[in-house]
Amino acid sequence: MAISILRRSTSNRDKRPANESNGSVAPLEFDLDVDHEDGLPLSLHRMVSVLSDGIAVVDGQGVIRHANDHLVALTGFSSETLNGQPVAFLVPAWDRNASPPSLFDAEISGVLNEAVDLRLELRCRHGHQLEVLAALSPFIFDGESWVVILVRDMRTIRGVEEHRVATELRFRLAFEGNMAPMAVANLEDEITSVNGAFCRMVGYSKEELLGHDAKLFTFPDDVGISEESHRRAVAGETEQARYIKRYVRKDGKVIFVEVSRSAARDTSGELLYFVFSERDITEERTLSAQLTHQSLHDPLTALANRALFMDRLSQALARAARRGGTGAVLLLDLDNFQGVNDTHGHAVGDQLLVAIAHRLEMVARSSDSLARSGDDEFLYLAESLTSPEDDEKVAARLLSVFDQPFVIEGIPFEQRASMGVVVWNATSSDCAEIVQDADVALFEAKRAGKDRYVIFSPEMHERAVNRFELVQELRRALSSNQLSMHYQPIVDLATTRVVGFEALMRWQHPERGSVPPLVFIPLAEQSDLILELGELAIREAVAAASLWARIGDPATWPYVSVNLSARQFHDPNLVSLIEDALFTNDLAPDRLVIEVTESVALANVAETMNIIDYLSRLGVGFALDDFGTGYSSLSYLALMRPRVIKIDQSFVSPALESARNDTLLEAIVTLGQNLGLSVLAEGIETQGQYIRLCCFGCELGQGFLFSPAVSADGAATLVGRVLGT
Ligand code: C2E
Ligand code: MG
Ligand code: MG
Repeated sequence: MAISILRRSTSNRDKRPANESNGSVAPLEFDLDVDHEDGLPLSLHRMVSVLSDGIAVVDGQGVIRHANDHLVALTGFSSETLNGQPVAFLVPAWDRNASPPSLFDAEISGVLNEAVDLRLELRCRHGHQLEVLAALSPFIFDGESWVVILVRDMRTIRGVEEHRVATELRFRLAFEGNMAPMAVANLEDEITSVNGAFCRMVGYSKEELLGHDAKLFTFPDDVGISEESHRRAVAGETEQARYIKRYVRKDGKVIFVEVSRSAARDTSGELLYFVFSERDITEERTLSAQLTHQSLHDPLTALANRALFMDRLSQALARAARRGGTGAVLLLDLDNFQGVNDTHGHAVGDQLLVAIAHRLEMVARSSDSLARSGDDEFLYLAESLTSPEDDEKVAARLLSVFDQPFVIEGIPFEQRASMGVVVWNATSSDCAEIVQDADVALFEAKRAGKDRYVIFSPEMHERAVNRFELVQELRRALSSNQLSMHYQPIVDLATTRVVGFEALMRWQHPERGSVPPLVFIPLAEQSDLILELGELAIREAVAAASLWARIGDPATWPYVSVNLSARQFHDPNLVSLIEDALFTNDLAPDRLVIEVTESVALANVAETMNIIDYLSRLGVGFALDDFGTGYSSLSYLALMRPRVIKIDQSFVSPALESARNDTLLEAIVTLGQNLGLSVLAEGIETQGQYIRLCCFGCELGQGFLFSPAVSADGAATLVGRVLGT
């Protein structure tokens, strides 16, 4: 091997003589520039001393002229011993006659024309032998035929060979047997090896793949990806690259593959080939696409969910910041939707939601975004509004989908919705704030009577902050006894004798003074705070009524009427709370009436009626409050059968008295009487109103004409009294 290196040396090749006989290569010639010590050519001398093999330089007479340090180390003889010895000294006598017979002597004795490798025993000190490979390489020096003998220990050679074989085996196992699809490609990017997993992945056999580049099975649009990666690898810009591309399998199926390309180089850094390790990620991608879709969409309506909506909104704001423009966010909330679920079940409720989503989609512009952001809440993003009225037009268009009833399982639903609208522009940047403002505007829409849209204004934000502060203060008020119950007498209109009291909550705020219930009750209703307020009202009112029952004649014991909010009917503890209050205070159930407004009763008829039915069986009364202000469905009135209907003050003391109003009032009184219910008129303020009601035959009444709400102690003094009018 070392010989061949000497022969291939380009610097020496040009110096070869032309006499090449029998196909053999002529010996190299060295110049006459010799080392002054041993008379060897200087260039040879230098080479010999740097080589890591044993070297003997033998002259034309077969005499060792130079033995290098490695040969000294291999044989154990000193260089003094070796130099000047005939070359046969290096070979034990018996081996010199071995086959090929006497070759070694013959070669050395001037007839060696070409390089020869011989395996032989090398003679060493103390009678030892060492199996070596001797590479004989002739050269011409000073007109004589000299020989360089390169001697290498066979044990070293075998070690190197075994290592190579083992490495190759390991690579084959790692490559062929690898579960991951692998391929090797040459510098032209043509496949030179592929493993079985690769063939299975692309559906082509080894024979079909070898010699081709990846274009054979790469999705046409993705060919550029591998070409670019190859270009960069060849240019040395990347050693390793990872990219994703699509393959078209032989059966036509398109798959996604993650490709890792590594460049293989030799020890001098020369690029040799490329190794590819690949991964079919089709399933992974499909799954992750499904998961991404699921995490960003509402499963019921398939609309975008809140997270996706927020993302789209932030993109829209970014676009507007770059190019300018105005848009709107509309938050739509269905009015009293809970009632549908309670009355008809969730399956029908779900179908209604899907139908609503479908209609909203029909009126949505393709450039806009629609999302379902909560149970009965939808968000709409309108972009590129051109005129100031555009936001109102969008709002009206969305609300128009509720104009026609929805028919689900044959049942018509008159569903309505309220909406908060926020207009944004290029300077808006906070998505969360925009949606929060839409919520504030929605609150205003609900408060203004629902079934409408309200456009957000900064004052609303202030009011919202105020509301928030008030809720915090209300929480503190509960624990610091700022809340108490007052009682407004209810009189029998024929005699004006007190027959009951309506319990009304009062908040005496240390700085704000008296805060009206119309302000704080709706706030409490937005959280669980109303449950605590409700419990306070029930416990205090029942306790007060049990005290009144100890005053005077049992026949005149007044009842107490307590207002309940819709949310309290969702409280699983409501019934036990009432039972406990009655039991603890030893109050007869028929001395308690619960007041529910029409809208509360109708919002969730099924749930409310269940509880009212149960309480009625206990003997607790039920009054329908503010009658005439809600939907006033007469069929529901028959269904609910309240003990009392309370005609709203707006009928009793209207802003303008008119014959028409009187007719309406009389009609309501008559209706109640015909249904066998007690009719109570609220807010009687004048003698005239009182007389009119008496004429119509109204049974009960309350109002400032008789008394405002008074403290519990004040109420005790009115028990059984006849109040002046
Ligand atoms: P409501 O149940 O309809 O109560 C009657 C309201 O009319 C009371 O207002 C009462 O003070 C007022 N009122 C009585 N007579 C007259 C009158 O002659 N003229 C006028 N202009 N008003 C009269 P208040 O106490 O401000 O309560 C307002 C509403 O707050 C109540 O309306 C009720 O819906 C609610 N509320 C009060 N206390 C409670 C409570 O403890 N729980 C619940 N859930 N709601 C309550
Ligand atoms: Mg009431
Ligand atoms: Mg009322």
